Amino acid sequence: AKHTPDNRCEAQDPHPENAPRALTPESGAALFEDARSRLEEVFEALDIHPDAQARLRQPSLSLQVSVPVRMDDGSLKSFPAWRVQYDTSLGPAKGGIRFHPEVNQHEVTTLSFWMAVKCAVAGLPYGGGKGGVQVDAKALSSLERERLARGYVRAVADVIGPDRDIPAPDVNTDATVMGWMIDEYEAIVRAKAPGAITGKPLSLGGSPGRVEATGRGALKVLDLWADREKRTPEKTTLAVQGFGNAAYHFARLASAKGYRVVAISDSSGARYDAKGLDVEALKGDKDKHGKLAKTRRGKALTGEELLALNVDVLVLAALENQLHGDNVESVQAGAVLEIANGPVTSDADTVLTQRKIPVLPDVVANTGGVVVSYFEWLQNRAGQAWSEQTVNERLDALLDDQAGRVFDRAAHESITLRQAAYRQGIERISEAILARGNCK
Ligand code: GLU
Repeated sequence: AKHTPDNRCEAQDPHPENAPRALTPESGAALFEDARSRLEEVFEALDIHPDAQARLRQPSLSLQVSVPVRMDDGSLKSFPAWRVQYDTSLGPAKGGIRFHPEVNQHEVTTLSFWMAVKCAVAGLPYGGGKGGVQVDAKALSSLERERLARGYVRAVADVIGPDRDIPAPDVNTDATVMGWMIDEYEAIVRAKAPGAITGKPLSLGGSPGRVEATGRGALKVLDLWADREKRTPEKTTLAVQGFGNAAYHFARLASAKGYRVVAISDSSGARYDAKGLDVEALKGDKDKHGKLAKTRRGKALTGEELLALNVDVLVLAALENQLHGDNVESVQAGAVLEIANGPVTSDADTVLTQRKIPVLPDVVANTGGVVVSYFEWLQNRAGQAWSEQTVNERLDALLDDQAGRVFDRAAHESITLRQAAYRQGIERISEAILARGNCK
């Protein structure tokens, strides 16, 4: 059992293939247009220089490859895959690699754009990147997954590296996959280069605290918001969509802090208990039975019912496009916390704003993962190993400062937190674009 890679995934539900309104190639194009409309809004509000606008309207590099994999039965399958670098003005591209059957170029591009904004909002010296393989990773054996991971790295090796583009885990990829990838990368460059990939196993230069970082960071952002609202954890109920890595650690840490987690879902359904769920016990049940629909704790709800619960905070930690024009009216929560990337479409966002339901946006709320990836990269480059306590303290301090600035800006300019975050991020990226000169 020791050598069996587990199925933990980075930010999302480990069974996302049944998620409502998952992305299709057609909706992928709409996803990017949706993301770009937020960019145009910032261009207008801030009068961003036309040169920076032109640079930011499309990705700077988009590589499509196919990754051939020898299957255990002897046959050969070839999987389409991408690596996109949206903008690298602030530093090397940074962002995860996703294994999912519905990955497509538009989705990877959009996710790389969000990474660019997110890294800039957090004040990291990184641009935005993202990778993806269109594959049902759960249908692969462990050795097939390893061949796929290595094949992906061979296909994109020319464009990644510690000073170019630094991959990390995302949906359905984890430290085990990063271990195979760094091993392949180091074999190609014939040198140790631990800073080329983050989210690695501890034994290969991974950072303590990285696995929990996305959930921990999201809780920190929720705490900062709750503090400003003069709201205590004990008086705050949460419903959590998703039970992957980020959702699990978020729910676990939030309930330890006194928040009442009344509902949790995965793609099979939700469990609900008005008195609060025992998150650890529910995780144990899920690990045992594979899906929440097969567990017994609390009462059963559908995923859509969870989205409509009358709770203080609705926490979206599954996939993109979960609150959209057709279901946003059913939301009764007092606020929305985005731990997934892009879980609220822009039309749903407008409705939430009109209804005065604050949204703690992804580009602030889920930065914990990439911030601790940055700490991992710093440790690798300095040949250091920080304690978990140091990592957590630095994560807290960074979020206090950078998320605090977004909260202040929103209050000061009377805009939403998302608008404030986008202004903060796009302003920083544009400044770097312009500082690089006029004639390239
Ligand atoms: N996949 C995570 C995200 O979407 C982490 C990326 C990273 O650590 O580079 O933010």
